[in-house]
Amino acid sequence: MSARLLVVDDILANRRLMQAKLEAKYYSVLLAENGVEALKIAAEDQPDIILLDVMMPGMDGYEVCRRLKADPQTAHIPVVMLTALNETADRVRGLEAGADDFLTKPVDDFSLMARIGALNRYNAVAMELRKREANGMRAGALAEEEMQGLERGANILLIDSSSSSMQSIRDPLQDAGHRVLTLDEADKAADGRNSNLDIVLLGLSHQAFDPLRLCAHFRTTDATRALSIIVMATSADRELAAQALELGASDIIQTPVVAEELLARVATQTKRRRYVDILRRRVDRGLELSVVDQLTGLYNRRYMTNQLALWMKRASLGSQPLSVISVDIDHFKQVNDKYGHDAGDRVLVQFADRIRTNVRPKDIVCRPGGEEFLVIMPETTGDLAGRAAERIRKSVAAEPFELDDLGQQKLGVTVSAGVAAYAGEDDTVADMLRRADLALYEAKTAGRNRVTNIAA
Ligand SMILES: [Mg+2]
Repeated sequence: MSARLLVVDDILANRRLMQAKLEAKYYSVLLAENGVEALKIAAEDQPDIILLDVMMPGMDGYEVCRRLKADPQTAHIPVVMLTALNETADRVRGLEAGADDFLTKPVDDFSLMARIGALNRYNAVAMELRKREANGMRAGALAEEEMQGLERGANILLIDSSSSSMQSIRDPLQDAGHRVLTLDEADKAADGRNSNLDIVLLGLSHQAFDPLRLCAHFRTTDATRALSIIVMATSADRELAAQALELGASDIIQTPVVAEELLARVATQTKRRRYVDILRRRVDRGLELSVVDQLTGLYNRRYMTNQLALWMKRASLGSQPLSVISVDIDHFKQVNDKYGHDAGDRVLVQFADRIRTNVRPKDIVCRPGGEEFLVIMPETTGDLAGRAAERIRKSVAAEPFELDDLGQQKLGVTVSAGVAAYAGEDDTVADMLRRADLALYEAKTAGRNRVTNIAA
């Protein structure tokens, strides 16, 4: 997976070296020699990842990072800070400035490629979700409480065989407000379901089982697919660590583990996983909104047409019957004109409920527009559909509709309905809908408050 990286460093030799390393791996590279230039290029060229030097004259890396994260145009771009050797304080400052990751100088190739690979995979998922969401509505920005949710303590599954490292890992995590479970504890806590976990911390060395197999298992199992996996490996196990990344691990941490780094990586992975989670839920909701009529909760015209085509196809293959009912509120325009649109909307909502309660769960109730409603009845003869239509008509006429919240003003409403049935292989969606409308029209001209069944 290729990507475009922005390298920010005040020293020419450093920029050139980094550029050579990255281009050797087929990444494309943008360069900036100071903070001001970096901010400009980031906003205009939208790189996928930014590698940011901390020590620069003028605006330092922390300030650049803060500004990148404060600008909605650049806030989503992962920033990797390049810090001086083993300066824990630098890393903490970097995190406070909003950095997504950090590397110590001099940067070794393995860590560099591992970090970029992990950020790249994360970017691919987040970008796809943002793109889909942008078709609907908000473009990936989070509300205040969603932001706070990203920061809350994580649920971490710790899989490591050495008991001493368990302590050195577990204690700092718990002190920082995270919940740490071992495999045994997780089994007891959730009946084997780990759906509320955020992160798996997986030791690669000296395990009684094959840790790579476990990595692959987590990635291919529905319940654990979205988890972040951080593998822990000694420098001697780099080959294994590289394979773990290939199999979908999100990040690597070197053992013996440095508490500051552990906490930083856990925080970053938790944030990322939850961000993707939020986007994914929004996309799902967006898909739902795109097929459902907002007022009544019934399916819209687009969904209706797709479903009818699908059921006609099935009917043609399985020689099963299929019927539709077209229903329309009589003199609805007068309701709107006389009582106003709010009252009209109330009638539509109550009418939708009466249709729903008079059909089966497998029937598909739609509101293609205005006061028109349509019920698709799979595996149903015209005769049966006619009886359902009659049930709907009666239930509407039987009890007046409420026009206000308190139910003080009520109005008697009637409906007319037309029923049509699938007519065999040559039938089309348009023809079937036209026949149902024709039947409905007959019911209207014959005096309304009745059902015309041209299928029976
Ligand atoms: Mg510098």
